[in-house]
Amino acid sequence: MTSPIEKFKADTQASTVDFDHRKWMQTALKGYENTRGGVEESFGDFEQAKRTGAAIKWEAIENLDTLLEEFAQNLEARGTKICWASNGAEAVDYILRVAENHDAKKVIKSKCMTTEEIHLNPAMEKAGMEVVESDLGEFIVQLRKEDPFHFVFPAMHLKRDKISQIFEQEIGSQPSDDPEELTMIARRYMRQKYCEADIGISGANFGIAETGMISITENEGNARLTTSLPKVHIAVMGIEKIIPTLDDLTIMLPLLGTAGAGQWLTCYNSMIGGPRQPDEIDGPEEFHVVLVDNHRTRLLADPEQRDALRCIRCGACLNVCPIFKNIGGHSYGTTYQGPIGSVITPHLRGLQPYKHLSYSSSLCGACSETCPVKIDLHHHLMRNRRDAVVEKGGSLERFAMRQFARVMARPKLYRSTEGLMRLAEKCWRPLKGKKADPLKAWTSTRNLAPPAAKSFHRQWKEKQEGEK
Ligand code: SF4
Repeated sequence: MTSPIEKFKADTQASTVDFDHRKWMQTALKGYENTRGGVEESFGDFEQAKRTGAAIKWEAIENLDTLLEEFAQNLEARGTKICWASNGAEAVDYILRVAENHDAKKVIKSKCMTTEEIHLNPAMEKAGMEVVESDLGEFIVQLRKEDPFHFVFPAMHLKRDKISQIFEQEIGSQPSDDPEELTMIARRYMRQKYCEADIGISGANFGIAETGMISITENEGNARLTTSLPKVHIAVMGIEKIIPTLDDLTIMLPLLGTAGAGQWLTCYNSMIGGPRQPDEIDGPEEFHVVLVDNHRTRLLADPEQRDALRCIRCGACLNVCPIFKNIGGHSYGTTYQGPIGSVITPHLRGLQPYKHLSYSSSLCGACSETCPVKIDLHHHLMRNRRDAVVEKGGSLERFAMRQFARVMARPKLYRSTEGLMRLAEKCWRPLKGKKADPLKAWTSTRNLAPPAAKSFHRQWKEKQEGEK
């Protein structure tokens, strides 16, 4: 089986030589940056808004245990069923049990990255259910049997001709180059699916502890139909989505809309606090909320990196990342791509198999700067690098770095090695690039500059002696 790093290397090599595709991505992301810039100005003081957003999420993460209890109790008081899932398998089992109890055959879903994380769709399909993604981008990548390319814009890598082609092939529509018509094709197909669905599955952008409600933001209205037409609604959310009060939404919603898509607010903002109540005419008969841990508490226990749990999944750090702009989302091979994905995936899936993601960064800090909740992303990438080396222990790299540090900290010792380095370089040069080259892996993508014939110290000394 291909390891994550082998896959990453192969995919990045393929994506970086596709210049057309890189240009397409960069143009799309540049457009987003320009729009976002304009909207930020309307805040008056966007930096202050970011500080407030960070403080709200900080409070939520620091008090996660009590806020989660409050959230669950308030939801249960209105008849919602809560599942506490410590991992993905528990969450999937619970959802399959609910489906079985209702003899469900058809499921409609709105966008939810947590369900991608726990691999819900394949499990439901294996159990014999038809699962349809109702978010347009998710629907397109589902038809193409691909993972989302970007966790906010899942199909941003596809041009209109590719979308038309897959619609023609999978749902028998006529070819079209008109974006409105392409949207209408998906919409017409979807309408029927909403009416037939036994279960609607959604995510949640926020969970409000004070009122016991989930908040969903979207631009297409599909989440509203998904959560209100079927008889059963299941919301799947990571435990870190909690915020303390309803008032907090007044800053979190504009921050999410602005940072994520350069919109003041997303078009549809819904709050759901339970199944249909006796005096209500709409809504599902049953409402379940599945609270997923799946190693988030492991991250919570890390005092250095727990601020990564503040993430509101706006996608802004992907949009500004020079690595993402060139390798694209699929190369990461993870549910969450870009800088935040590189920070949290080693915590969610294991440090050693995913440590390479921490090196897929220029450490320019653009991600940390753009983050609306002020997560120290680029420093976390360095912390992951450090932790990977410490955890592994006894590596050759670690030994070499220790010796290097020892020599660099002792000027006399350092000067005495100069001749040695020149000699080593002279012996190595004829082997360069050959099979026996011990530095082949390093120098295949880097230049090893030869040591200067005369060191700076010597030149300085000679200069001073000459001036006397
Ligand atoms: S880390 Fe920050 S910028 Fe990146 S997705 Fe999360 S909230 Fe947005």
